[in-house]
Amino acid sequence: MKKGELLYEGKAKKVYATDDPDLLIVSYKDDATAFNGQKRGTIAGKGAINNRMSNALMRMLEGCGIPTHFVEELNDRETLVKKVRIVPLEVIVRNISAGSFAARYGVDEGIVFAEPTIEFSYKNDALGDPLINGCHAVALGLATRDELETIKVLSFRVNGALRGFWSDRGVTLVDFKLEFGRLPGGSIVLADEISPDTCRLWDSATGKKLDKDRFRRDLGGVEDAYREIMGRLEGTAAGSDTGRD
Ligand code: ADP
Ligand code: UDP
Repeated sequence: MKKGELLYEGKAKKVYATDDPDLLIVSYKDDATAFNGQKRGTIAGKGAINNRMSNALMRMLEGCGIPTHFVEELNDRETLVKKVRIVPLEVIVRNISAGSFAARYGVDEGIVFAEPTIEFSYKNDALGDPLINGCHAVALGLATRDELETIKVLSFRVNGALRGFWSDRGVTLVDFKLEFGRLPGGSIVLADEISPDTCRLWDSATGKKLDKDRFRRDLGGVEDAYREIMGRLEGTAAGSDTGRD
């Protein structure tokens, strides 16, 4: 598949046209941002890890009957995906309190919920991705009620599959962000990425953070954490917990 014109450069990925109008190439960068772009940096090797991890997880989810945009991994950093019209909502599923949830409600991180929660943010950098409820999303024409219902059902199914996958690898899935898009016929598929940039992943034995919070919160060992979580996914020795911090 020939890489065509650069259509979009985001904070973490570049998106290219291809010679097929229904397909795009996404190219993962090592650039990292946090706090709506206010904090910027580079995480060496992140692009390749996020690309490979996201593809492995999307393939796993496809196997569980969840439709995704994934088509083919082209190389370490680039993947062929189905072009979708992105639903401009960040869908956040949480199993354990952390991050903005803990801050908003004044609770500690680490509270295990009796059942998972879901929330939406309006994907709009200029507004700082504000929290939005389903009725407001429909009022603004961001999605239909049916689309929201599909997105909720799929998101909880993704949570069930991902939780089990990571738990088998000694990792606790705390929370994560998903994006969905519409195929030309209108059907909803999981798009964007699933990676340590978009999930909170804690070592189940030690609680060590193996995700982008190490960058956001200046915890150090950022590159090592990305390598470790990738090793866990691949089941390689590099990923086994050495107890080092
Ligand atoms: P951001 O736009 O937040 O800076 P990225 O750097 O990850 O994020 O850029 C990737 C962009 O591509 C995002 O805006 C995302 O919504 C969009 N995207 C992801 N998957 C697809 C897809 N299959 N088709 C079209 N757009 C997509
Ligand atoms: N998240 C994301 N992109 C965003 C905001 C959040 O991928 O723009 C992910 C984040 O990695 C975490 C989950 O969504 O896994 C919940 O994030 P939260 O709302 O707690 O926000 P944060 O604390 O990151 O501001």
